[in-house]
Amino acid sequence: MEQRSFFGDVIERAEWQRIQDLLATALRMEVRTFGPDGTELCHASGQSEYRLLLANSSSFREAVRMSRPLLIRSAGEQNEIKVVNTPTGRLRFSVPFFLDGQHIATIAGGGVVERPLPDHQVIAYAKQFGVDARLLVQAAKKLPLSSRQACLSAAHLVAALLDQIITAVENRRRAEIRTLRLKVLAEVGHAVSDSLDLLRVLDTVASAIPQVMLVKAAVVALVEDDGVTLRIQAASGLSDESWQTPFEVGTGLLGHVAATGEAVNVPDLLADPRNAYHAFDEHEGMRSMLAAPLRDGEQVVGVVAGFHGATRGFTGGDEQVLESLADFAASAVRNARLFTRLNQAYRELGVSTRRLREVQERLFHADRLATVGQMSTVTAHEMKNSLGGIIGAAATVRDQLHQLSDGDVRELLAAIAEEGWRLRDTIETVRSYSKPTHYGTGVYAAAEVLQDVVRLLRFDKSFRGVKVEVEVPEACSFRADRDRFKQVLLNLLRNAAEAFTGVTGRTPRIVLAARPVADEVAITVSDNGVGIPDELLTRIWEPFFTTKGEAGTGLGLDAVQQIVQGLGGSIAVDSEVGVGTTFTVRLPQASPATPTAAAATGTTPSERQTET
Ligand code: ADP
Ligand code: MG
Repeated sequence: MEQRSFFGDVIERAEWQRIQDLLATALRMEVRTFGPDGTELCHASGQSEYRLLLANSSSFREAVRMSRPLLIRSAGEQNEIKVVNTPTGRLRFSVPFFLDGQHIATIAGGGVVERPLPDHQVIAYAKQFGVDARLLVQAAKKLPLSSRQACLSAAHLVAALLDQIITAVENRRRAEIRTLRLKVLAEVGHAVSDSLDLLRVLDTVASAIPQVMLVKAAVVALVEDDGVTLRIQAASGLSDESWQTPFEVGTGLLGHVAATGEAVNVPDLLADPRNAYHAFDEHEGMRSMLAAPLRDGEQVVGVVAGFHGATRGFTGGDEQVLESLADFAASAVRNARLFTRLNQAYRELGVSTRRLREVQERLFHADRLATVGQMSTVTAHEMKNSLGGIIGAAATVRDQLHQLSDGDVRELLAAIAEEGWRLRDTIETVRSYSKPTHYGTGVYAAAEVLQDVVRLLRFDKSFRGVKVEVEVPEACSFRADRDRFKQVLLNLLRNAAEAFTGVTGRTPRIVLAARPVADEVAITVSDNGVGIPDELLTRIWEPFFTTKGEAGTGLGLDAVQQIVQGLGGSIAVDSEVGVGTTFTVRLPQASPATPTAAAATGTTPSERQTET
């Protein structure tokens, strides 16, 4: 069958075939060409799941007939390119070709996309990128070429156009997935911070993976104490029997990740020679896998993996998100193990559960900060994406206002508003998460707080015979959580008092001072005790480091450091053996306008009591 071409010539089947083949290659999709009466002008091009689906359906002919009315109707009635998403994840497009208002053919095609978009979004994109097909014809007409070359040029134009549409659709899809990932990361972050129940956290991670990576199943496995057994601790989309599968460090793909600490991206599990667990994959119908290590410093403590039921590659984005989730899981493992260790140490020392809760809280706080740090990288991408959408849509309205219909403008404005809300949500998510809910801050007169602490010391045996002096200018106030700050001072003062053990020949003296430095207040605790050897100056901050044997816990300075950081301040030490030690805490200074008024509110309630 022959068609009139753009040039008044004839486009033969062979020419349509060429255009179609080119498009199929460019788009990696199934492409067909229909005449205005709905007959196919040449053989379908391209190999895709879409084509296989048609070929395998009960009646191939019927399937073609069913898809045709949609394609042709849209092409015949509206002079526009159409892109349709089917609920099963296929993308269909049709590009009508017109000559003098006469519809001469439609090139249509389809392929698989990972995630269908709502139709209104797709239509908005098609409109945004849709070009009057006659423009294509005119562009092709200007080229003084043979009809065959002209066809190819036209095909190039169509291919470029479709590429744009598909990129737009893809970008949109990615933006949606990113938002979802951000939400899930925030949820997982909360679970890590709010629960010591390791399995619950690992469960959250395992159920988050299918949502953010669109995989069919996920597992989190931990290396057991023997250092060899790799056991599934949490999973989603896995049958009951497979839960019991014991993996081994160094064997198979998961074992490889556990042994090397390297992530693996396996597009085809059956074809990978490293795979040692075919039975598992077959039983579960797993065909491709992405796995990442759970790292605790240099050590690999476990593995997290996502599985597809079909052979396909994972993207760089998938790898990134799986690694973030692996980090969350690893920090949960670290927390749980550290807590168990602390618990034991404390039990041996006979310390109250109240102290335990303090330590636990401290661990959570540190993790919360780490989580916020991790979230900010994800968030930056997400925000940049939303801004890109807003700027792009706004620029389209500005530059093409006269070409756009009222409906188009409305849709673009709606897109701007939608992206704006998305941006706002992103900011809210992070803000609500990083808010320091545990630390109440008030403004306090330094003199009052320091005197208050010194008063407490009168009842403390270790300060007998020690002279404690307070040096604070009247108008000096800082911003902090009062009870926690007292805890910091008490720890530093007690260490100072203990620094006189065995020191003879001088009067034990501690000076507690505060002075404004730039926009901070420096609070110092100085003693003339034994001093700290240079080589220990960094080690003293480590949890469990003590030079006091049975009498010390080695947790004081670690707690001090955590609290000071939580208050938005910093701490430093300066010491000389045989001369003495000075610890300096820097806290944000209260604004100069408020110190006296605020000093009166010195007893701001704090949610938690501090044990002293
Ligand atoms: P602990 O008090 O249980 O030993 P800390 O974390 O409070 O644990 O302190 C760790 C170590 O730091 C102490 O064991 C001690 O060696 C050293 N240290 C801390 N403060 C002083 C100080 N003022 N003078 C000398 N050494 C100190
Ligand atoms: Mg101490």
